[in-house]
Amino acid sequence: MKDCNFSFEIEKICPVTGARAGILHTPRGDIKTPVFMPVGTQATVKGLRREDLDEMGAQIILSNTYHLFLRPGHEIVEKAGGLHTFMNWDKPILTDSGGFQVFSLSKLRKVSEAGVEFQSHLSGQKFMMTPELCMDIQKSLDSDINMALDQCTEAPGTYAEAEKAAELTKIWLERCAKAHQGGNHVLFPIVQGNLYKDLRKKCAEYCTPYAKCGIAIGGLSVGEAKSDMYEMLDFLHPILPHDMPRYLMGVGSPDCLVEGFARGVDMMDCVLPTRIARNGTAFTKTGKMVVKNSQYKEDFRAIEEGCDCYACRHYSRAYIRHLINAGEMLGAELLSIHNLRFLINLAEKTRKAILGDYFPEFLAEFRKTYKI
Ligand SMILES: [Zn+2]
Repeated sequence: MKDCNFSFEIEKICPVTGARAGILHTPRGDIKTPVFMPVGTQATVKGLRREDLDEMGAQIILSNTYHLFLRPGHEIVEKAGGLHTFMNWDKPILTDSGGFQVFSLSKLRKVSEAGVEFQSHLSGQKFMMTPELCMDIQKSLDSDINMALDQCTEAPGTYAEAEKAAELTKIWLERCAKAHQGGNHVLFPIVQGNLYKDLRKKCAEYCTPYAKCGIAIGGLSVGEAKSDMYEMLDFLHPILPHDMPRYLMGVGSPDCLVEGFARGVDMMDCVLPTRIARNGTAFTKTGKMVVKNSQYKEDFRAIEEGCDCYACRHYSRAYIRHLINAGEMLGAELLSIHNLRFLINLAEKTRKAILGDYFPEFLAEFRKTYKI
């Protein structure tokens, strides 16, 4: 196994829930956990500049292997000096393996032990994604946290499908680990297994030896009930290695964020905050607010009074509503800033509550106040 220059320090564990506060030390800086990570699929967090991300307290962002491989091509990013230089972001970057996108976006997939043959959703051109290529692309991108290539199945899938996908994910993980560069880059294995506990346990067991400083939980929030997801997180909590961050992939509505952290998850990401922003919806402490509705026509208050984000400090509901309805891009940008700050702030508050020994009270208050 290759060395990696990452370490995880647990500062405090909530004795009631098991929620954790820690620091992931990376060569590109520390990440205080629990953390929400904004998603920048196409090497950009949609509509936002680097200054916006800095101001909202983003510590790490995500990007995507599949998308950057197809466009502009990882060789171009490498020529630019890597993804950090290319997109003007010098804090850590996590790149998703593209496994999920190969299964959700591309056409005509052919899965075998060798890899996945797929047709680009952009050009129709055929490619073969192998574990080695997946590692190679992430090496060219020079992202800090690299995800192993995995096969995700839909919920509720059959046991046989989930078992087959888990088996393939295991074979691919072994090859990813062999091809991975180590050093200033860390590989996160992904625990699959759908909603089958015995498969999840098996996956966690075979992933653990490959996890140097982080492990991911994939294949949740793919159509199952939230209660099923929470039950699986409860089940995995004592099984996953304790001394490294656990990353729950693609999950990040405010309620899922807090409930995930309460179940020992340390890192989460989701496209939801920027996606709903483009539709004119904002997160608030009490639930979602559809800012484009006519009730806000003459409402000159901030989206959320007391919110420290740039949008709330400078603009009103009435103005943002006007921008959204007029199709002006600033509307989506301001709501994206607010929604991302809302989730980053929620993770910061969770961390403060764990460190301050009042997380169970914080959780109870959140459950009472936030309407799903
Ligand atoms: Zn705000």
